[in-house]
Amino acid sequence: MLKIGVLLGDDIGLEVVPEAVKVMKAAAGAAGLDVQWQEFPIGLRGHQLHGHTLPAVTEQGLRATDGFITGPIGHSAYPRNDPTWIMPPLRKRFDLFASVKPVKSYPNLPSIHKNVDIVFVRETTEGMQTSGTVVAGSGEFRPNDEISIGMRVVTRRGANRVAREALEIARTRPRKKVTAVHKEATYRLVCGMFAEECRKAAKDYPDVTLEEIHIDSTAMLLVMRPQQFDVIVTTNQFGDILTDEGAGLVGGLGLAPGLCIGERYAMAQATHGSAPDIAGKGIANPYAMIQSGKMLYEWLGRKRNEPKATRAAVLIDQAMDHVIAEAKALTADLGGKASTSQMGDAVAGAISRG
Ligand code: ATP
Repeated sequence: MLKIGVLLGDDIGLEVVPEAVKVMKAAAGAAGLDVQWQEFPIGLRGHQLHGHTLPAVTEQGLRATDGFITGPIGHSAYPRNDPTWIMPPLRKRFDLFASVKPVKSYPNLPSIHKNVDIVFVRETTEGMQTSGTVVAGSGEFRPNDEISIGMRVVTRRGANRVAREALEIARTRPRKKVTAVHKEATYRLVCGMFAEECRKAAKDYPDVTLEEIHIDSTAMLLVMRPQQFDVIVTTNQFGDILTDEGAGLVGGLGLAPGLCIGERYAMAQATHGSAPDIAGKGIANPYAMIQSGKMLYEWLGRKRNEPKATRAAVLIDQAMDHVIAEAKALTADLGGKASTSQMGDAVAGAISRG
């Protein structure tokens, strides 16, 4: 039995997370997967109930799960300079060291390119954005008003573990290819260490092809020929930029799911924010949240050796492909007229009908 925590988040999180859970439950039922679901308060609700946006009871409860699905947090509306109103530091607390973001085009949805199917794996604890993980001080400083200095950190462990995740994901995909993106020719030590660890890790995955491309060439190739990429693994800041470029290739935020992964836990969370401008109207697109939930099943299938979770993920993917191709239950941002729950119902229904 798998235990999955549910964190609704704020604003449209209250609308899209229940749709994702609805679809995940339908897929679990069809795949014969036993899941115990438990909801925990976070964000505004966490504060209303326990005086904190990440209540202790939520953090403790999540530790007993196998992974969790988290809605967007409306942090920009939170009061400033109050330590009880913070963006819940889930990545840090649960040591989630990589962000996985797939980018997929659909034949009947507008996108700059067709036949794009890429998974980005971005290291998220090191590089130039260590602020979320340092325990004291920070990676940047300004010794006087004329100079600012920023540091970039790459560790063998950090590079190796993210490379292994990318190789494992590639192994489950038809093309079985990983592109390690860096700039070793210029950053011989930091990018050099990242590249070395990717090469080292790849030796344990002889069925996966590893190629290496510099970050600047990758940025260009993504615009010109994104079809050539399968899985891309890279360091924190390069990944931050490339994943946004990737989302832009296939229609932007509504179509950008994500999974934050660690050694023990994974968290499904869409790329989009809490979109307060459309909250409560029932028009938010649940695609990204549903597909994030699907990624959690994929991860659980791999890490907990649970083929039924892998099967449940495949069922969600097939149902989503069907609903998008049929184009009868799409939300307004995808050119349709369906509400959030109608689109969720359509995907869940497609799973139940097989
Ligand atoms: P944050 O800073 O919290 O990450 P943001 O400022 O980047 O958030 P979002 O909340 O993601 O912004 O919203 C950006 C725009 O995209 C908004 O106009 C919003 O309505 C739209 N949007 C975001 N998510 C969705 C969705 N799931 N369905 C439809 N529209 C969305």
